[in-house]
Amino acid sequence: MKAFAMLGIGNTGWIEKERPACGPMDAILRPIALAPCTSDVHTVWEGAVGDRHNLILGHEGVGEVVEVGNLVKDFKPGDKVIMPAITPDWNSLEAQAGFSMHSGGMLGGWKFSNVKDGVFGEFIHVNDADGNLALLPEGLAPETAAMLSDMVPTGLHGSELANVQYGDKVCVIGIGPVGLMGVRGAVLRGAADIYAVGSRPNCIEIAKEYGATDIINYKDGSILEQVMDKTNGKGVDRVIIAGGDCDTFDEAIKMLKPGGVIGNINYLGEGEFVKIPRAEWGVGMGHKTIAGGLMPGGRLRMEKLAAMVMAGRIDPSRLITHRFEGFDKVEEALMLMKDKPRDLIKPVVTINW
Ligand code: NAD
Ligand code: ZN
Repeated sequence: MKAFAMLGIGNTGWIEKERPACGPMDAILRPIALAPCTSDVHTVWEGAVGDRHNLILGHEGVGEVVEVGNLVKDFKPGDKVIMPAITPDWNSLEAQAGFSMHSGGMLGGWKFSNVKDGVFGEFIHVNDADGNLALLPEGLAPETAAMLSDMVPTGLHGSELANVQYGDKVCVIGIGPVGLMGVRGAVLRGAADIYAVGSRPNCIEIAKEYGATDIINYKDGSILEQVMDKTNGKGVDRVIIAGGDCDTFDEAIKMLKPGGVIGNINYLGEGEFVKIPRAEWGVGMGHKTIAGGLMPGGRLRMEKLAAMVMAGRIDPSRLITHRFEGFDKVEEALMLMKDKPRDLIKPVVTINW
């Protein structure tokens, strides 16, 4: 089969690979909608998780089931399904401890395009099909549902990690697709004021639509000073980090009230250490918590999030700015993600075989 792969750090290309085999609990899918992710860019061009050779890229999309193993109960060929980016082993001890995303070891639930072939292939292998596939609801467009693989669950997980409560003041740093969903997650959890940090016009427009009350543009001066001004010097209860780098934690800690929580979902592609400012961290005693996490994945969460889209609580179709048709367009869509034109939020490729 044909697939688009990471050939080595900084290098991608089309390859031929064996069609994956289906184990007793697995499923084989054919993709019908695919989306590249900023994480693919960190992985290939920053070598953030180490070198990979001929590893098929991609972890976001919707597919049609073509084969299931003999122990799979709930899915059959012909079903249209959402593929979660994170596909844990649900029998693992880590999953039983509540950390499915780390099944088998740290970040072990993140298999696609990390430790096994991803979804940019003509056929896709999914482990533990009953635990990891989500049925595509009738009437939900595959391109919109592709946002449920990663963007929606990750952004919403940011608001969970930050433990947003009714009436909180929340700052969301970085309003690409993940941060925009972080804004929406904060709204759904009852935040009062939401300060969205960003500068691109279409992202700002969607942040407001999703419920951001204030936009903080770094071009207007220091983000920290602007947040402190808007909060009368008190700071915010929660910070969701969905953009930036290792130094972003410095500002985040400084703008956080004692007792506050940072929910980081940003993939730190470069740098050795994360900076925590000693004095503003209460010289070690400020009750300022940093929670960073990979999104949990799995069928239940995906089906619940799809239900939220169907009920009109979330509209992830607003994230799609670039549309392509045909499997061979996957390369162009990924390069767009790498080059990040200013108007890009999320590209999607739809495929009619
Ligand atoms: P993106 O690059 O489209 O968006 C990030 C945004 O942050 C951009 O608009 C950028 O301009 C902005 N930004 C960069 N530096 C900033 C700074 N210092 N202050 C404010 N804004 C800044 O990426 P995305 O697709 O929205 O994803 C966000 C991050 O989440 C990526 O690192 C991605 O790899 C990661 N991610 C994590 C998970 C997870 O499970 N935790 C899943 C998917 C993606
Ligand atoms: Zn991703």
